[in-house]
Amino acid sequence: MKKLYDVIVIGGGPAGYTAALYAARAGLSTLVVEKLYAGGQMTQTNQIDNYPGYPEGIDGVSLGVNMQKGAQRFGAETVNSQVLSVQLAEEIKTVETAQGSYKGKTVIVATGAGHKHLGVAEEESLVGRGVAYCAACDGMFYRGKTVAVVGGGNSAAADALTLSRIAKKVYLIHRRDTLRAEKIYREQLEKAENVEFLWNSTVSQLLYEEKLTGVKLQNVYSLTESVLEVDGLFISVGRSPATELFRGQLELDENGYIVAGESTETSIPGVFAAGDVRTKEVRQIITAAADGAVAAHYAQEYLAR
Ligand SMILES: Cc1cc2nc3c(=O)[nH]c(=O)nc-3n(C[C@H](O)[C@H](O)[C@H](O)COP(=O)(O)OP(=O)(O)OC[C@H]3O[C@@H](n4cnc5c(N)ncnc54)[C@H](O)[C@@H]3O)c2cc1C
Repeated sequence: MKKLYDVIVIGGGPAGYTAALYAARAGLSTLVVEKLYAGGQMTQTNQIDNYPGYPEGIDGVSLGVNMQKGAQRFGAETVNSQVLSVQLAEEIKTVETAQGSYKGKTVIVATGAGHKHLGVAEEESLVGRGVAYCAACDGMFYRGKTVAVVGGGNSAAADALTLSRIAKKVYLIHRRDTLRAEKIYREQLEKAENVEFLWNSTVSQLLYEEKLTGVKLQNVYSLTESVLEVDGLFISVGRSPATELFRGQLELDENGYIVAGESTETSIPGVFAAGDVRTKEVRQIITAAADGAVAAHYAQEYLAR
């Protein structure tokens, strides 16, 4: 008979591996199901300065691997497979993956968030041919080239900064006339000589032959259009929660986040939501890790009941 886990954690980002660390350390049999590799979104950045304990900062891949190792030290197992469906309503919960199904008494959902799409024609088909979503992952392909970043938040600003060190020229396209990004990013961007801001502009069309050759920009006030020639376009217009799996089973808010308060308890007993995937104000590594600890605590309480 297949093993029945005390806790199945879906997602191996900071929320997932912290939950696994706390659960395994409390003596619970714990399985993490992760479709890619440890670290989640953290793996997209090579400099994390605001996770305490690393005075010089740390790159996201190393932090993710460290978190996984910490959980493994207490016996947490990992399966690298995508969760395809879940049945959460019964007392024994089932998690189906491409590699088979797993049974757990509790489930901690820590599937995080992914990038939002811009919604322009051919966006999907040009991914890898000029369209990208992660400067830390794909920036090196644009060494010495001209690129644009679209967006105005921290991620867009971080992407533009990363690219300013690699590309010849970086345009930052934003639909407003100021960035939402934190001051520390804005100041660094203003100092970067090869970064140019294109305010009050949206991307209305992708221009391409075999690969992307440029974008058509539209001014949000005058509606006039202009062509910007670029080799790459990095889309950084926000994130959306990875919750499609849970639609119809767990209560979601209007933006698709799992409704769960500070206790991480969801609408189904024995199912918890930790990290970026749940309704909350601050989505950061430290808050995701904190959620993981809390979720493991409440899973333990639920099991004791
Ligand atoms: C470029 C970038 C830079 C950032 N920089 C910082 C920073 O400097 N400091 C900071 O505090 N925060 C930063 N953040 C935000 C931070 O990374 C997130 O808040 C944090 O990673 C959220 O953790 P999480 O565990 O909730 O989710 P995630 O990190 O999103 O992890 C979710 C995991 O679940 C997995 N998953 C999803 N669906 C499935 C499925 N169906 N089956 C199996 N596995 C699945 C994913 O593969 C992923 O590994 C940054 C984010 C980005 C994108």
